[in-house]
Amino acid sequence: MRLKVLGAYGSADATHNLTGYVIDDRVAIDAGTLGSKLTLLQQSKIEVIFITHVHADHIRDLPTLIENRFHSEAAPLEIVAEKSVMEMLHADVFNGRIWPDFEKFPPPHGGKPAVHYRALAAGKRTVVNGMGFTAALVDHTIPTSGVIIEIEGQAIAFTGDTGPTNAIWKKVNKTPGMVAMISEASYPNDYATISRQSGHLTPELFGAELAKIEVDAPLYASHRKLPYERKIESEIRNIRDRRARILVEKQYTF
Ligand SMILES: [Zn+2]
Ligand SMILES: [Zn+2]
Repeated sequence: MRLKVLGAYGSADATHNLTGYVIDDRVAIDAGTLGSKLTLLQQSKIEVIFITHVHADHIRDLPTLIENRFHSEAAPLEIVAEKSVMEMLHADVFNGRIWPDFEKFPPPHGGKPAVHYRALAAGKRTVVNGMGFTAALVDHTIPTSGVIIEIEGQAIAFTGDTGPTNAIWKKVNKTPGMVAMISEASYPNDYATISRQSGHLTPELFGAELAKIEVDAPLYASHRKLPYERKIESEIRNIRDRRARILVEKQYTF
């Protein structure tokens, strides 16, 4: 599978972008950075988007992606999220104030609405467009769910924002064909307190998550807060586990 990392950071500036990933041009995970880095044609090819949680840095590009789809003739965009996350998307984002609920509007050229919502039960594998999606709740400050996505015998896991967590690694350890896991390291080691209070990992905690994983595949650290970028990266490099990697904004092939 091809993983396009459009945004690998927990903050942004002119050359670093918020969380957003695309697999095989058809599945997106989070929308901190999505439409702003994809052409209209590329946006129309996204079949499914999984949202880990509703924090602004993970949904920033979602409203405009949906509106572009409303004016395209593409099939409805499947918006997939764990049940409690989906409830927050409806209550806090698609509430007719922040943004309309485009499932309610017939598109201008006829056909089906621009979006279709699919709420997942945590821990249960659901097939969407031929791909397996297993949501697993993680430990952040608001309801947040990671996901394991299975496509043609390969699997990849995303934790989203999280502090120390367990359920997703138990699932990862039981999933065949794991090629990579994407987690986070938001603050350097000497910011352990703010990291714990905000439901994030430091490189030291990231290393402790690795110890829970029995799969021989790389674990990438994403969501680095830019003011600490260099420090976090050097601390990740010091982890004594060859699976520890730093996620950068490029295309990976697994
Ligand atoms: Zn975040
Ligand atoms: Zn968050």
